[in-house]
Amino acid sequence: MTFTPPAASHFINGQYVEDTDGPVIDLIYPATGAVLGQVHGATSDIIEQALQSAQQAQKAWAATSGTARGRILRRAADIIRDQNRALSILETYDTGKPLSETLCADATSGADALEYFGGLAGSLTGEHIQLGEDWVYTIREALGVCVGIGAWNYPTQIACWKAAPALACGNTMVFKPSETTPVCALKVAEILSQAGLPDGVFNVIQGQGQVGASLVRDDRVAKVSLTGSVPTGRKVYAAAAEGVKHVTMELGGKSPLIIFEDADIENAVGGAILANFYASGQVCSNGTRVFVHKTIKHAFLERLVERLRQAVIGDPMDETTNFGPLVSQRQMEIVQSFIAKGRDAGARLVYGGDRVARDGFYLEPTVFADVTDTMAIAEQEIFGPVLSVLDFEDEADVIARANATEFSLSAGVFTRDISRAHRVIAQLQAGSCFINSYNDAPVEAPFGGSKRSGVGRENSKASISHYSQVKSVYVRMGDVEAPF
Ligand code: NDP
Repeated sequence: MTFTPPAASHFINGQYVEDTDGPVIDLIYPATGAVLGQVHGATSDIIEQALQSAQQAQKAWAATSGTARGRILRRAADIIRDQNRALSILETYDTGKPLSETLCADATSGADALEYFGGLAGSLTGEHIQLGEDWVYTIREALGVCVGIGAWNYPTQIACWKAAPALACGNTMVFKPSETTPVCALKVAEILSQAGLPDGVFNVIQGQGQVGASLVRDDRVAKVSLTGSVPTGRKVYAAAAEGVKHVTMELGGKSPLIIFEDADIENAVGGAILANFYASGQVCSNGTRVFVHKTIKHAFLERLVERLRQAVIGDPMDETTNFGPLVSQRQMEIVQSFIAKGRDAGARLVYGGDRVARDGFYLEPTVFADVTDTMAIAEQEIFGPVLSVLDFEDEADVIARANATEFSLSAGVFTRDISRAHRVIAQLQAGSCFINSYNDAPVEAPFGGSKRSGVGRENSKASISHYSQVKSVYVRMGDVEAPF
């Protein structure tokens, strides 16, 4: 399980490319803090090469039949599945997430996206609209060159979730991973190339925010898809608006998980664990505001703590480990500062709250109870393993409180009353919702938020409309009547 550094920093026009003039980005293993290698951020020359190659490749790629495009994407999905273990180890080196998790949630999810959109590519058609003897037909066209910008929590998955629908629709892409996790997207590019993707169709360049900003500003770019925080989303959206570009924004969240008094406690606790501690809590859709009905709060907390004691915190490469480090020193410090704010505000620390005594960026899974709506830990996205339990008694009141946030990504409800489940979910402001479950993200289901949590949807047929545009053609069969 040794780490093999990437052959070079960037992947452009079908090959690895290096430019050591770019700023050094350390590859830091979150489980130890060790520097495993380095890549270089893109220089303006690298940015130009990537955009040029994407632009040059786009027309021919769009002219390739959808079936042929899809075949390449599906071949890439097969290669990813064949190499799942090696790719999962790489993802674990990049992010620190336990191998027990990356083996089933990262490369496999990327493969699902490539397979799903590969399957759809041949069926992307327009429609025929008869108007008497005249008619209109529509053509579903690619947008052109797309830019993908990724966050650090799911580097393989994010690269695939953006590449798959973009490429299926005939677009080309320049993808910039987070500087915190630069490695995995390069592997995705390499595998796509190995699957037969023409040179220039999918390019990866490294760098910090400024590299992303340069890509977004470029006139050759037709669409920008960002996965990141709300503050970055605002900047990227504004820059894209300047050029009237298409956007998909997958941004942050502070989602509610409501547990009613009739819920199955064991399942509700399981849901709360999935909603808060997978990937050490670094998941945008997490249900971090856990509203628990007052009458079951004690039983819920007791069982939650019992189950958290069973978490195996340790070496992420050991497959028995199921809770790993945070992605970086910086992220660990951000989360620690929120834990301190929770304590200072008077929330009751029920579990965890401290660093784990080992190297790397480990924090204990942490639970606060008696959290109130205006505490910072209840209002702001923490992006770490911190679960807040808030009390409630009344259905209408908890719905209003759940919706009283600028975010609107996900929401969950646990109850045995099926009418209540649908009634409550219908009123919650969120794009991705769960009843008696949490954080399932199958490629067949639309994923994304509203309000400040984002614009557009990833996955599912819904994302096709975000990576293509419709041209409509009016066909007159008779003579033209003009006023003069
Ligand atoms: P950031 O917003 O800090 O960064 C996201 C990406 O944008 C990075 O690649 C970053 O580069 C880049 N970037 C930063 N500034 C600019 C700019 N001005 N122009 C263009 N690109 C820029 O997010 P994090 O990486 O810290 O990820 C965590 C956030 O992502 C959380 O808020 C989380 O909720 C959200 N997220 C949302 C998901 C969703 O689907 N809704 C899924 C996963 C995460 P660099 O960091 O290299 O400087």
